[in-house]
Formats: sequence, structure tokens, C-alpha cells
Amino acid sequence: MFIFLLTLVFGWAGVYRFHKRHYVRAILYLLTFGIFGVGWLVDVICALVDMVDGWRKPASDFVARVAPPPPPATDADKLRQYKRLLDEGAITREEYDRKKGELLDPDDPARRYVACPYCGTRNRRENVHCSACGAKLE
Ligand SMILES: [Zn+2]
Repeated sequence: MFIFLLTLVFGWAGVYRFHKRHYVRAILYLLTFGIFGVGWLVDVICALVDMVDGWRKPASDFVARVAPPPPPATDADKLRQYKRLLDEGAITREEYDRKKGELLDPDDPARRYVACPYCGTRNRRENVHCSACGAKLE
């Protein structure tokens, strides 16, 4: 806006060309009264285009600031979702506790095993059946 007004009033003196760092042309404007008004008119249009562009760009930046891309779901987010499922009755307390354990410490060796409910043998969590008695593991 400021550059546009400056060009509108003092464009004949090459202010727009000084602003654009076209110093040779700016001096030429200064000496020829903005190339007898023609260069002045061209610069006023250029400054106007710059100004409109300037309005457009901050607008898109503004949108980016207001609506940043959603961050990736963190473990806390997932846990919150499971908690909601638990509250809604979609999953049981045991399922919730297991998910919570996986999320909070997925590498804890104690969580990679599950005790057989029949014989008490420790089985890997991914096993479907007990390695000792063959009972189905929950
Ligand atoms: Zn067993």
C-alpha cells in the first residue's frame, strides 16, 4: 500500500525503481520525469499488481496459521481414544488396560508374555494357544 501510494505521487522520480533496486532505471526516471510520464504510469500499475499480490499471499499464510495440519496421533491421543471406547462400553477394562500397557511401554518384557489361565505357563503374547497345555489363550 505504502509503495503504491509513493509510486502514485513520486513515481516520476523513479521511487518504484529505487524500491526494486533498478538504480540505473531509477536515475533515468529522475532525469526524464519518469520517461515523460510513461514509465511513471507503468510503475503505478506494477506497484498496484505488487500490492494486490501482497494482499493475496498473507491471506494464504493466514489460513495456514489458523488451520495447521493435524499433528500425528500420539500415544496419549490413542490412549484417550481407548478410554472413550471403554467409557462407551465398546471395549472391556482388560482390553483397555492391555492397550494402555502396550502404549505406555511396548518394549517392557513383562508385557510380551501372558500366563496361561489353566496351567500358569508363561506364553508369548502373540501365541493363540498355550505351548504347555494347548488351551486357548485370551
Ligand atoms: Zn496352559
